[in-house]
Amino acid sequence: MPPDAPAVTALRRIAFLLELAQEPTYRVRAFRRAADLVSAITADELDRRIREGSLQQLPGIGAVTALAITEAQRGEAPIYLRRLESTEGRAVADDAAVLRGALRGDCHTHSDWSDGGSSILEMAEAARSLGHEYVALTDHSPRLTVARGLSAERLGQQLEDVERLNAGLAPFRILTGIEVDINEDGSLDQEDGLLDSLDIVVASVHSFLRMPREQMTERMITAVANPRTDVLGHCTGRIVAGRGRPESEFDADAVFEACRRFDVAVEINSRPERLDPPKRLLRLAVEAGCRFAIDTDAHAPGQLGWQIRGCERAAACGVAADSVINTLSATNLTTRQRSAH
Ligand SMILES: [Zn+2]
Ligand SMILES: [Zn+2]
Repeated sequence: MPPDAPAVTALRRIAFLLELAQEPTYRVRAFRRAADLVSAITADELDRRIREGSLQQLPGIGAVTALAITEAQRGEAPIYLRRLESTEGRAVADDAAVLRGALRGDCHTHSDWSDGGSSILEMAEAARSLGHEYVALTDHSPRLTVARGLSAERLGQQLEDVERLNAGLAPFRILTGIEVDINEDGSLDQEDGLLDSLDIVVASVHSFLRMPREQMTERMITAVANPRTDVLGHCTGRIVAGRGRPESEFDADAVFEACRRFDVAVEINSRPERLDPPKRLLRLAVEAGCRFAIDTDAHAPGQLGWQIRGCERAAACGVAADSVINTLSATNLTTRQRSAH
């Protein structure tokens, strides 16, 4: 079955929209698995099974996916897909829409090399389909073992992979990168030479989040002052969903002043459970004269569409488009980061 068969396209689009709507992973996975399955059988077998009504005998195809496949192969838009499409086009504030329109890429995403759910190629193709010119691949660093952080050796392999993929994706570009852990002492959890070779370095605190205020401030400033850091990821570490997690305590004036001074972009993290930094801090960063990166921190293709949430928050807090680094072209962005390294 060619990978662009109507049923395959429809099933992948459904999965994408479910992720965008934050539906549980198992539901999304059912559609992605069905798409893989359909692409693995011949066009003849698919036609025969649709005629005989025997699609559901295939493992992993249920009533809902079978109906969507049948409708798509008939040349109709599946009802399931139409329902999802109709809720997607919700109105957003004009400023946020303008800001979103100015974004050319995403500076913080994960693949299945660390704790993401999809391949690098699938993430890149989804980013391209959103109109992006580039996506930075920023998998985790070694110490974050729960997220299968990449050793120096694996990161080296990933860089080779990205180079190969980029040859086929041009003019679209996967920017090389990392979400590097900020160690307890403010140092970065990866070899300097490797960090130097990357297009984008997002530095984030993932451990010892409850450290005393003075120490946390010093830790973050040390990381921001590191010439290899380009973006300060989800600065408070708060989680606003479920049982949640409170913000880390630090001197925000001092940290944002360091970001301005060392030209490190403050990330506006679009993940619905993070929404980090909170608006009061985001306004503070705007007043401090910081630059920003409006990122999704996507761990799956559909999550790449969450960027509009970050744009809404940015617009509400007065972030100007020309202070957002991912409104730059890939070339301008990487030359800018390079000269800083
Ligand atoms: Zn993170
Ligand atoms: Zn991340």
